[in-house]
Amino acid sequence: ESISFSVPPEFKTRTPPYAALLTRLDKVREILNRPLTLAEKILYSHVVDPEEAFAGKNGQIRGETYLKLNPDRVAMQDASAQMALLQFMTCGMDSTAVPASIHCDHLIVGHDGAEKDLQASIAVNSEVFDFLRSCGRKYGIQFWGPGSGIIHQIVLENFSVPGLMMLGTDSHTPNAGGLGAIAIGVGGADAVDALTGTPWELKAPKILGVKLTGQLNGWSAPKDVIAHLAGVLTVRGGTGYIIEYFGEGVQTLSCTGMATICNMGAEVGATTSTFPYTDSMKRYLLATRRGLIANAASAVNNLHGYLRADTGAEYDQVIEINLSSLEPHINGPFTPDLSTPLSQFGEAVQKNSWPSKLSAGLIGSCTNSSYQDMSRVASIVRQAKERGIKPKVPFFITPGSEQIRATIENDGFTDVFLGAGAKVLANACGPCIGQWARDDTSKGEVNAILTSFNRNFRARNDGNPATMNFLTSPEIVTAMIYSGDMAFNPLKDKLIDANGNEFMLEPPQGDELPPSGFQQGDLEYLPPIDPKPIQSAEVVVSSTSDRLALLEPFEPFEGRELKMNVLLKVQGKCTTDHISAAGAWLKYKGHLENISNNTLIGAMNEETGEVNKAYDFDGTGYGIPELMIKWKSEGRPWAVLAEHNYGEGSAREHAALSPRFLGGRMILCKSFARIHETNLKKQGVLPLTFADEADYDLVNGCATIETLDLLQMLNNSGDVSGVITLKVTNQDGSEHIIKTKHTMSKDQVEFFKAGSAINYIGSLRRH
Ligand code: SF4
Repeated sequence: ESISFSVPPEFKTRTPPYAALLTRLDKVREILNRPLTLAEKILYSHVVDPEEAFAGKNGQIRGETYLKLNPDRVAMQDASAQMALLQFMTCGMDSTAVPASIHCDHLIVGHDGAEKDLQASIAVNSEVFDFLRSCGRKYGIQFWGPGSGIIHQIVLENFSVPGLMMLGTDSHTPNAGGLGAIAIGVGGADAVDALTGTPWELKAPKILGVKLTGQLNGWSAPKDVIAHLAGVLTVRGGTGYIIEYFGEGVQTLSCTGMATICNMGAEVGATTSTFPYTDSMKRYLLATRRGLIANAASAVNNLHGYLRADTGAEYDQVIEINLSSLEPHINGPFTPDLSTPLSQFGEAVQKNSWPSKLSAGLIGSCTNSSYQDMSRVASIVRQAKERGIKPKVPFFITPGSEQIRATIENDGFTDVFLGAGAKVLANACGPCIGQWARDDTSKGEVNAILTSFNRNFRARNDGNPATMNFLTSPEIVTAMIYSGDMAFNPLKDKLIDANGNEFMLEPPQGDELPPSGFQQGDLEYLPPIDPKPIQSAEVVVSSTSDRLALLEPFEPFEGRELKMNVLLKVQGKCTTDHISAAGAWLKYKGHLENISNNTLIGAMNEETGEVNKAYDFDGTGYGIPELMIKWKSEGRPWAVLAEHNYGEGSAREHAALSPRFLGGRMILCKSFARIHETNLKKQGVLPLTFADEADYDLVNGCATIETLDLLQMLNNSGDVSGVITLKVTNQDGSEHIIKTKHTMSKDQVEFFKAGSAINYIGSLRRH
């Protein structure tokens, strides 16, 4: 049987070690002795030592047990790869312990169209791209250069495989779940765990089952499944969960449609999302030249049921969605969980005084740039062309990869788009990550855009906080640009054709996969499948660079209770975009000192309602990072207080690195987003939550906070109570003793003591 799912050498590094995983799964089954969900099977079969992890736990695993995992692969995007690799370099290894890839996608601007934008972006970022390329050569990491495509699309086309477990230094890494993988977004320090072969730790997530029944039809698309679910769960509802889809509706979805759904699962805070093995996954593997891997996956599934949930497996929560009656949704503005069914959207526009006119439509990104998406969009554009009408607003398209770009060009879609006046941007993130050099609106101008992207935090696309980004499917974006009216509903409203006659758009039609196959496009973009490390290769970081700087290790824990002052009380939503803004700051991702000048500049001061303003003891106001720098120079450690879901959004580890670099010791809030909380622990910052949320109101700016039993917790890490007591002394002399909670595991305690996870891993490697 093991022979039936082995693959030839050229597929080895791209196929999960199925035989070993099945052996480990048998052990897990022996210990747990109950039916397992799909996510449990994949995750638990990647646990280093099932005996140690599960025995004696009385089956209390989900939400309780820390798992030490061996991921199969790592992917990194250019913005986060810089810091991940700078940290990896400090560990002194010759090569990575698992296959890894680097993807140059975030630093490419969208403005004039693919060719010009790419050239301009390469010119501006050559130092960073050269650094990443040289790391790839030295350590044997696949390097996908600028123009090759967006990390998650390339991962889906090349590396994601049913049963794989991978980490990616990007929050939308779960996209790979569309092909049945468990793919988790992490910070660079977590990626370094996998890159160095150090077991990666995760508290076993609970499993949220989403049962899909029926079949999508008409204008509804996979995006609507997750747009609807985001409304049900909200941005915090998936925290601590893996979302596992099941039910007969699953078999009706395309592989890329499932990837869209998994991709945006990041928006509800889920650890990841995944789907059981389907025929569409097999078709996608075949279409992307991985037939032998498809055979292996089919074999492990048919013979062992590895790629589906066991009969009788129980979920911690189940939500049911009937695809047949699911209508298109539009989510936003400013938060991805503000979900409105299309039939009610016009009313919502009026009621909320959202702009009545659309200012631009954008499709693509890692969420929605599949062949199927593009072919359905092309079918709408063709209908409009036949009626002699053109889009009323600028229309932008970002293909997800060179393969998609070449295939849609080959199949005539690109000409259809260009004929409608669309601008086709480079195969990169572009407008999805603030790299949209927009010249049709000015900063502060209120306007509405519709995108097929996944995230719509303020200022995320064009740097204009007044731009309202509404998220929807590429099909709905496309229909709406022909009306220009935000209240337009293509399911019931008519357009006027070139002859002045009314007509309705027909529901979009498209192909799941290209009938004449995927085109690979420019082969220059394709790195060797299995690059070997070249020890003599040099990694150059200039000491005068303002883009890259080698890292100095953080100081280890001083061994006494912490005493610090409150630098800021943050009010309301505080995402990683608020803590470590992207856009122009992306430039400094490899230079910790320079990028730290953006720390919390998007945060609102609870005491004054001002953004990027914090006050010193004498009442002098400073920009938030300025005060951090001042207090650091005065040797005054500080803490930040915040409300719910602090660090929501992304795996951006600068949101943890910068506060630590500028002297932050503790973040105390009402609740954390998972990835960010882990990132703080990895960088030696103490993340605590209020045991009683009302205590947030007892603490004022500049208050002195002392930990009373931190040492006890650290010295007693085998038996942590989960509670840390703080003494708070406000400037007016009022004192409070407050209880807080921590979730530090044994290993995380060691990170804290060493000063950071990297310090700890480095010390393990040296001994
Ligand atoms: Fe790039 Fe946007 Fe996808 Fe992030 S969400 S990987 S920025 S396309």
